[in-house]
Amino acid sequence: MSDKFQAVVIGGGPGGYVCAIRLAQLGLKTACIESRGSLGGTCLNIGCIPSKSLLNLSEEYHKVQNLSNKGIEIGEVKLNLPKMMKSKDKAVTVLTKGVEFLLKKNKVTYFKGAGSFKSKNEISIRDEKKNETLIQADKVIIATGSLPVSLPGIAFDEKVIVSSTGALKFEKVPKKMIVVGGGYIGLEMGSVWSRLGTEVHVVEFLDHITPGMDKEISTEFMKILKKQGINFHMQHKVEKIKKLNSSAVVSTKDKNGAQKDFESDVVLISVGRKPNTNGLNLEKIGIELDEKNRVKTNKSFQTNIDNIYAIGDVITGPMLAHKAEDEGIAVAENIAGQSGHVNYDTIPGVIYTTPEVASIGKTEEQLKEKNINYKTGKFSFMANSRAKAIDDAEGFVKILADANTDKVLGAHLIGPHAGELIAEIGIAMEFGASSEDIARTCHAHPTFSEAVKEAALSVDKRAIHS
Ligand code: FAD
Ligand code: NAD
Repeated sequence: MSDKFQAVVIGGGPGGYVCAIRLAQLGLKTACIESRGSLGGTCLNIGCIPSKSLLNLSEEYHKVQNLSNKGIEIGEVKLNLPKMMKSKDKAVTVLTKGVEFLLKKNKVTYFKGAGSFKSKNEISIRDEKKNETLIQADKVIIATGSLPVSLPGIAFDEKVIVSSTGALKFEKVPKKMIVVGGGYIGLEMGSVWSRLGTEVHVVEFLDHITPGMDKEISTEFMKILKKQGINFHMQHKVEKIKKLNSSAVVSTKDKNGAQKDFESDVVLISVGRKPNTNGLNLEKIGIELDEKNRVKTNKSFQTNIDNIYAIGDVITGPMLAHKAEDEGIAVAENIAGQSGHVNYDTIPGVIYTTPEVASIGKTEEQLKEKNINYKTGKFSFMANSRAKAIDDAEGFVKILADANTDKVLGAHLIGPHAGELIAEIGIAMEFGASSEDIARTCHAHPTFSEAVKEAALSVDKRAIHS
């Protein structure tokens, strides 16, 4: 007789493992299946965590080289890339093991192997040795995440033509790297390698980087990255990539039809990710997908098959770890008879470059498109005393508020610790706060958060320090 569970989660990423823990907390007998061999999904193994580790280490390397300008004299600074990679790998191992501990602590049964549907209530798990285990499930949650997209006809070899996975483990610092796509991955990984000494060229299809982001921020962001030495080739379409022995030639065409070839030792293709439904056998049970091959769900994350749900990167919405986690919690609560809910208007997005870029809610472009009257408050970090004190004063905070009610509709930040500062605005928006509410809240001095307060004051044209 096969084991029977009240809930089975397929995928142990931030969506899946969080969902499994919440289900178990709510008293359901729960299992979580993961095929990777370690928990934490894309995020912990080959995404958020290793990339943030390398962003931090490369930034430290870069900063320490410039300390003599600030009166700190040190000897020659040398890069030890294998040691840096070990430090990154250690962070990954500690965190993935930590998730395994959390599953155990919450009495979630962890199956190592690839899950697929035999029927709507029966799941097959194939381990590395192809042994099959069958389990029964009242409810199933699909949390199988996403995979990198390449360009038509171009395969990743993860050495010369790489996705983010290859770019997280180069064995030596590339001399030159072409980054196809100026989005989250291209700019974060481009920053890492540029700081470690690579000549980085970003080839972007559009006339601006980070599409979907507030235009003013995106323009400022590109200006700052250019100053840091990253080269941009905008409105360039990649026509083909030819792989040579240990390099590649990227052939592009610009908006006027002019052709240009770039030769480099590595090419990072970062043009987006696609939902991963490989091997799940969804056709067999008739699960509907949408036009982008994402699992189709209703507002309660339920698919067209009533006992099967889906969350995270494999469904619609931004491909972000915290979005997947919040959906995991919401679906678990719905399954347990509670009212789980995700507010998609207040999901922050952060790019962990230097400076950081963070945004939440509506952009100016979206407000204009929807004919919503709004007021803008802006404050530059140049006028923030903490930022000036530590000589880290690039960027600004922009708050958008409804012209009639003053309710905060969105905020866009570029500057030091922007990824932390955005949380304050998230809470304000969740509570339906006005910009005046933020402006009247006492912020400690001297902190970067005072720039948020001043931007809120500036909505009503009464910033003090500008
Ligand atoms: P995943 O994390 O992809 O997890 C799905 C898991 O399911 C995988 O481990 C996979 O092995 C497993 N699986 C798939 N099929 C099966 C099967 N049949 N049986 C068993 N297991 C299966 N997001 C952020 O919010 N912040 C960041 O800083 C950030 N940085 C990123 C950096 C990079 C380089 C990348 C690539 C992504 C980054 N992301 C970041 C995005 C983030 O990683 C994803 O949004 C997040 O991991 C999605 O979570 P998920 O649980 O839906 O899917
Ligand atoms: P992206 O969607 O962020 O950016 C893709 C970029 O490639 C866009 O600027 C797009 O215009 C461009 N592009 C598309 N086709 C092109 C082509 N043929 N030639 C040139 N440019 C082209 O995608 P990504 O950077 O691959 O990242 C995937 C997802 O992973 C992100 O959208 C995000 O959800 C997630 N992620 C998040 C973080 C974070 O939260 N800090 C970090 C990394 C990844």
